[in-house]
Amino acid sequence: METIHFKTVDPVSQELLRYASRKGMCLNWERYEKQQPQDGFLRLGLSCPYGCMQGPCRIDPFGRGAQNGICGLDRDGMVAALLLRLALKGALETAAEYPGACDAKIVWSAPLASRAAAALQQAGGDSVSHADILESALLLSRPSATPEALVRQAIRLGLLNIGLREQRRADAAARDVCVGYGLLAGEAIRIGVTGRIPRAIIETLLKETAGLNHPEVRLVSLGDWIPAGEEFLPIACTTGEAETVLSSGILNLILAGDGTDPGILALCGKLNLTVVSHAKNAEAAEIVKRARGAYDRRVENTFTPDTAMIGKGRVSLAATEVEAFLKGRSRIALLGGADTLFQSLGHLPVELAKALRGEDHDVASWGDAALWMMKQDLSVGILDAEDGPLTAVRVLAETGRLPALKGICFTGLRNAREFTFALGLAALGLKVLVATPLPLWGSEKVRTKLRENLTAAGGVLTHFDHPAQADEILDGLLRS
Ligand code: SF4
Repeated sequence: METIHFKTVDPVSQELLRYASRKGMCLNWERYEKQQPQDGFLRLGLSCPYGCMQGPCRIDPFGRGAQNGICGLDRDGMVAALLLRLALKGALETAAEYPGACDAKIVWSAPLASRAAAALQQAGGDSVSHADILESALLLSRPSATPEALVRQAIRLGLLNIGLREQRRADAAARDVCVGYGLLAGEAIRIGVTGRIPRAIIETLLKETAGLNHPEVRLVSLGDWIPAGEEFLPIACTTGEAETVLSSGILNLILAGDGTDPGILALCGKLNLTVVSHAKNAEAAEIVKRARGAYDRRVENTFTPDTAMIGKGRVSLAATEVEAFLKGRSRIALLGGADTLFQSLGHLPVELAKALRGEDHDVASWGDAALWMMKQDLSVGILDAEDGPLTAVRVLAETGRLPALKGICFTGLRNAREFTFALGLAALGLKVLVATPLPLWGSEKVRTKLRENLTAAGGVLTHFDHPAQADEILDGLLRS
């Protein structure tokens, strides 16, 4: 536990982790440690992604063992196929998030149209559509295409990811958001909300709990950005801290939506914490009744957060608000993304934001990274957790101010969709950095082809074979 600062920069989280350790609770950090070292073949892209039934085949990165799969596939083909498979998964996830956009032809907004056209020309063809998803699936049915073709197709899917987001340009008003353990302070029945919960359920629950007192009933998110009325639901912690908060015993009930990690559900089981799945269509009154019952049966917990531990922000959702924030700024860095256990939670977002501001950059952020910055009272712009970076790029392009954008850094990637988003932004000719290692280091040829393709469109995708340190990211943003 003397290495606790390697897990999180938040002293309260550190104390909660010590408490969980004393109680013998196994949280995400213990599972992470037991997974080390993670699969080195897959990490390098040298574990075959084709899913053929003759495998799985792997290629020895040091040249001492197998250099080809059973079918003869070599390292370049394997790494390029893994890149395409990641991009395909990301495109499918994006298509599922924006179902309406899949039926229509991709129409680019005026500020991005010329960039998209130039990028698509480099990537073969003047348009991109969901037919590219099917084409990619065919390419991954059996090794036959060259690494060059696979890399090009991955870039097309990156552009499709952006194109699908372009079809859903929201113009919602700005929303306030608050974050921090202080939201759990005082006497209250506390319902933790995690995963994707339909907005209607949250609105109904808020109506049901409004005006309930002695004690009040409080809904808090465990890291997800959930619209609630004119604001976001208050966020008690970042996604990486969700299990830490659960282990404190301060919550009385969990409302779990799609995408809730199995580890969260298992921990709730061990803690005898009531979980209501939104999929079961429980009535709001029933949820509140069950939370009250759990509150009445509660045992004393030792976690007594300070009401001062609350950070506040205002999320710019509409292009006009993003424009108002970015107006007049001469050096802008977009810095955001999900928590990752590869790094001490909060370390990269906070250190990078401070360093960039010290170098006269204005910072706008999204996702868990933005929550860490708010927790530390850093003055940054807050963007929509999903499409915020793209909205900012569109606004800057429209006003001819893209040169002010010095880079877009993903401090963590949660899934293939976020990776494909990063790839698509680089394909649009932007400078993108990813702190999470990408599985491309098994083939220099694939990395070179990817770099050449992106450079031809004016873009850069900087990535590492290890979790990137703050100075490496800063070098990429400020000095290259
Ligand atoms: S596609 Fe080739 S390399 Fe991949 S698992 Fe099948 S036989 Fe092995």
